[in-house]
Amino acid sequence: MAPGIPSPIQQQYRDDASRLEIIIVGAGLGGLGAAISILLSGHTVHILESASEIGEIGAGIQCLPNSTRVLYSWGLGEKLSQHATCPRLCNMIGWKGNKISDMDFHSYEKECGTPFWDFHRANLHMGLLERAQELGAKLTTKAKIVDVEYEGSADGESTIAIALCEDGRRFKADLIVGADGINSKCREILLGHEDPPLLTGDLAYRLLLSTEDMMKDPELKGFVEDPQVNYWIGPDAHAVNYVLRGGKLFNMVLLVPDDMPAGANTLAGNVEEMRALYKDWDPRIPKLLALCEQVHKWRLMIRPGLDPTWSHESAAFTILGDAAHATLPYLASGAGMSLEDGHVLGICLGKIKNKSIAEKKRALDVYERCRRERTERVVSRGNRQQYLYHVHDGEEQQERDRKLCAFAEFNGE
Ligand code: FAD
Repeated sequence: MAPGIPSPIQQQYRDDASRLEIIIVGAGLGGLGAAISILLSGHTVHILESASEIGEIGAGIQCLPNSTRVLYSWGLGEKLSQHATCPRLCNMIGWKGNKISDMDFHSYEKECGTPFWDFHRANLHMGLLERAQELGAKLTTKAKIVDVEYEGSADGESTIAIALCEDGRRFKADLIVGADGINSKCREILLGHEDPPLLTGDLAYRLLLSTEDMMKDPELKGFVEDPQVNYWIGPDAHAVNYVLRGGKLFNMVLLVPDDMPAGANTLAGNVEEMRALYKDWDPRIPKLLALCEQVHKWRLMIRPGLDPTWSHESAAFTILGDAAHATLPYLASGAGMSLEDGHVLGICLGKIKNKSIAEKKRALDVYERCRRERTERVVSRGNRQQYLYHVHDGEEQQERDRKLCAFAEFNGE
């Protein structure tokens, strides 16, 4: 094991008196991660997922060393490393093509102890699902949760929560964990009122290119041969790209002002409209977009925080991931935060000695205290990043670029 790489956590044994039956609502990255961590703590897990099949849409995801550390500790290092690309540099590029600065990810890896990984989401998702099932997770699909009820035990010492499915099925558990994403029903149930996510004014075009055609173009083939993460930053928009699956696929995300009609959060995008938005940018971007045949656009929304608490007073219901703190993807950290949430929740539940309300409450309080400040900071830092990336040319942009250079120089010393 390389220095800095954490050893996999061993699954705890638990007796019946302290083994909680836990339901996780949502088999996304956050829900599956929480399932692994909770199973490692010796509790049982039943995942309820509304979709009829488990899968992630085909696009890329960046995992920073904080989240790859968690993945290693769950025993997924070797398996996932086979699907991961380790980019050498992260480049900041002006929208006209001038390089502003770079960060050496390989030297960061030495500092952080764990690598920076780029994945196809399906690989990360499947890796998590297989590990959760290997540890004993039960999964029920086509189970859309619409409400949660509570029942106290006769002695008043413990509480059971009941997840109610759209089709009338009822699932009982000592604890329900809502990991149902940005449009979370669990969050609404917990709060007792509607609480839609906030608009950010931006949307994302997400596209995957086959690298075959890129390899025919001398200007584009460098993107494939030397994996790097590239950020082009410009007025009101930016673009991010990196290779996946050993150079077979090229992931691009274009972040632009939101022009989607009210009510729609994902739509098929118009390739011509997308190309028009970047026609005056670094010529390599229009060239890449010329290779794109279809695209989807996603409205970007956030959830800055949740008051008063992330958990129900009965200590039988809590939430995590995007349901609690969805952020703009401008720090590539939303999934990382949901994996960290699951990791911490599992560790806290691992300290439980019995099923009493007091024990569960103690664990959930520590979980929230460990996670709230960090995740709220990531959301507000994501908003700040939106402003900084999208500054128009002028003094403020020059000052931003000077700071990026100074930061890169300082880190490179
Ligand atoms: P989700 O992944 O949304 O999962 C929720 C699950 O719950 C789904 O399976 C859903 O079907 C299910 N569900 C919903 N409602 C119910 C219900 N009522 N009953 C049962 N099941 C239900 N993060 C990074 O760390 N790195 C990146 O590079 C990155 N890039 C991004 C790029 C873009 C364009 C976007 C939009 C986001 C990006 N993110 C990134 C953020 C990341 O995708 C999310 O933060 C992460 O997927 C959240 O995971 P989650 O499990 O909380 O929610």
